[in-house]
Amino acid sequence: MTDLDRFRSEARNWLQDNCPPSMRTPPGDGNIPRGGRVPEEVSEDALVWLDAMREKRWVAPAWPVEYGGGGLSPAEMGVLREELVRISARAPIISIGLMMFGPMLLEFGTEEQKLRFLPDIAAGRVRWCQGFSEPGAGSDLASLQTRCEDKGDHWLINGQKIWTTFADVSDWLFCLVRTDRQAPKWEGISMVLIDMRSDGVEARPIELISGASIFCETFLTDVKVPKDLMVGPLNSGWTIAKRLLQHERSAIGTGRQRNEGMAHDAVLTLRQEDDAPMDAGMRARLAGIEIDELAIAATTAQLGAEIAAGNNRPFIESLLKVASCNIRQNRSELIAHSMGSRALSLDDTILPAENDARTTWLRNRALSIEGGSTEINLNIVAERLLQLPRSS
Ligand SMILES: Cc1cc2nc3c(=O)[nH]c(=O)nc-3n(C[C@H](O)[C@H](O)[C@H](O)COP(=O)(O)OP(=O)(O)OC[C@H]3O[C@@H](n4cnc5c(N)ncnc54)[C@H](O)[C@@H]3O)c2cc1C
Repeated sequence: MTDLDRFRSEARNWLQDNCPPSMRTPPGDGNIPRGGRVPEEVSEDALVWLDAMREKRWVAPAWPVEYGGGGLSPAEMGVLREELVRISARAPIISIGLMMFGPMLLEFGTEEQKLRFLPDIAAGRVRWCQGFSEPGAGSDLASLQTRCEDKGDHWLINGQKIWTTFADVSDWLFCLVRTDRQAPKWEGISMVLIDMRSDGVEARPIELISGASIFCETFLTDVKVPKDLMVGPLNSGWTIAKRLLQHERSAIGTGRQRNEGMAHDAVLTLRQEDDAPMDAGMRARLAGIEIDELAIAATTAQLGAEIAAGNNRPFIESLLKVASCNIRQNRSELIAHSMGSRALSLDDTILPAENDARTTWLRNRALSIEGGSTEINLNIVAERLLQLPRSS
């Protein structure tokens, strides 16, 4: 038995003993903790699962042990991922800190910044939010205007961010700011870390048509930031932001829960005319989605193996994000279609499974916008991956 076989067998046994059965189901009900100081409404099992993974150091299994991670090798990571998928385990936590900010800080942060911030993220104690977009800077992110001035012993920040997911319940903000107004727009940007409880920070939730609110407008008025909370050198923010966006696209594009068969199961459960045979058009759409799901699962596994072998593929995240978001949108659209008019029902007589399906369908509309829109990612695929000439 190789070391890797031994690791697999230990991981399988440990997961068998520690992952509660309710955490081995599709996460459509949103019952996954997000961490941080604000208490959340999640089940006892979800907290048990997070505690167990935290104790095992598998919340951030690949991070170095000194920063709160599990120190697993890429090969062990691959095995752990397979074992988690095998039992359809939910992620123990959904965290921007874990998926985006932490990997970026590992690459660009100072030793002090890593020791200060990473262990809290790996333990789910602190929640981060992302201050990139502004009212005048979305796809054209480099046009951002939030101003950062050097005041000797601190930075002074003034400006407005928008679409800041969960800013009102987050502890910290990683924020792109303009530090040089004369330089070309990409060369005058820096990244600073802002404590959300600082004077001058105000997060105003934006109410959505559903009545829920996941986004905020974030106003920054004369916010003082200590000098040691800039990531990377002054005016190097664009390089750091691009790297962070790669992590974001990778996180959106490669969810680890099992997808294959989900559409089929959901359609069978939710179909209105339960006894009638499924029509040919529906069967063809279902088959198409299942084929796409198998193809992307195989591609993701292949890329995972290549990365574990040290062969990185720059910009592949953009391709994966577009492909996987298309599939998720098609799947949730088909599931909603199978519910007939109940997918549009606003009364409370629909079943919890129907409600989950409807919520997922509506939520998934945003997948092709967040983390960079599909058009922007296709531009990256065309220019960077395929080396096609720029359109303008
Ligand atoms: C669910 C969700 C969560 C988000 N969370 C955050 C967050 O936490 N923090 C944050 O900072 N931002 C967040 N965003 C904002 C997101 O990053 C932006 O919405 C996105 O980058 C698009 O910017 P925009 O909305 O200004 O659209 P615009 O840039 O105005 O684009 C409008 C349309 O024009 C198209 N377009 C623009 N430029 C081009 C071009 N060059 N070529 C082809 N087509 C183009 C776009 O594809 C899009 O269809 C979130 C968005 C969503 C939907």
